[in-house]
Amino acid sequence: MRLLNYSMKLRGLQSDMQNNFKEIARALREYDGEEVRIMEVCGTHTAAISENGIPSMLSPKIKLISGPGCPVCVTVTAVIDKLIELSLTENTVVLTFGDLIRVKGTFKSLADAKAEGAHVKMVYSPLESLELAKANPSINYVFAAIGFETTTPVYATVLDEAIKRNIHNLRLLTSLKTMPEVIRWVVNSGNDIDGFIAPGHVAAITGADIFAKLSKELSIPFVVSGFKGKQLLLTIYAIVSMKGTAGFRNLYKEVVSDEGNLKAQELVSKFFTLSDASWRGMGKIPGSGMILKDEYREYDAGSIGLDEDHMPKGCSCAEVLVGKLKPNECPLFGKVCTPDNAHGACMVSTEGSCYNYFVSGRK
Ligand code: SF4
Repeated sequence: MRLLNYSMKLRGLQSDMQNNFKEIARALREYDGEEVRIMEVCGTHTAAISENGIPSMLSPKIKLISGPGCPVCVTVTAVIDKLIELSLTENTVVLTFGDLIRVKGTFKSLADAKAEGAHVKMVYSPLESLELAKANPSINYVFAAIGFETTTPVYATVLDEAIKRNIHNLRLLTSLKTMPEVIRWVVNSGNDIDGFIAPGHVAAITGADIFAKLSKELSIPFVVSGFKGKQLLLTIYAIVSMKGTAGFRNLYKEVVSDEGNLKAQELVSKFFTLSDASWRGMGKIPGSGMILKDEYREYDAGSIGLDEDHMPKGCSCAEVLVGKLKPNECPLFGKVCTPDNAHGACMVSTEGSCYNYFVSGRK
């Protein structure tokens, strides 16, 4: 069944979502047009697609491909190695989120180093680091500041607060990435992507406009999406309907405005500036990251020049991250590599595509 005229359908959706949704779900299931390859570039979308069983609701001609949207997965080993080095330094404690602690560097993970006596502490929010630093002025704290546009404002808030509270024993090791350049890289590397599910959380900060511009520039449809199953199906429907055009839709308007969160953008631009960044499996991509501005360099724990990447032997994470291989096509998937015994970063993180394929039994 061919998809119905999209613009008519979208207008209908807004007035009678439930009835149209049934039609849309059927159209997606029975679609028999040209193959459509859709990439999501947000780890939370990757997890939501698996949790909601979205692939099983689609025609085999609609392929969903996970892109480089999991921040832990795209972090190169040089960053982990540097964090381990810092955690072994006298009077220094490395603070990190749960996922990152289990990702292997060149030889070991932060969890391995901790087991051997290194100073590594898991935290649930970067803001905890302020309390720790204030309470223990003789200890130097380093926060592993990893993430996309969504989390960079949180790190900017930490710095802002540290300066206001006169805290000087807290620094960041940054590996911060931005979306537009990596999306251009994916498209220009011959990945045959017909449309993108634009990342909802990132867009909430940056605004929807940057994805509208990308859509025009790359002549590929982009749709900003929420994270519920229904929202994702509507997004996929919109992309399939706009295949071959530079179409753009924001279907997450309750959270994402055209211009984004201006306060957060202002705070980020106070402390950070665009830079080149190294991505696992992709190498160095110009203008795809953020580093601290020169005037705040005293808060940097040595983030510049951390470019080396050594994949664990046999791990295909590099191909998985750019959609060249599905997780279950990696020879180690589910055999040597499982969430309990993760071989590569894509199986460690709950936002990683290998992890999500495994826990949802996705094929
Ligand atoms: Fe790497 Fe494991 Fe994924 Fe294979 S299944 S690509 S080894 S993380």
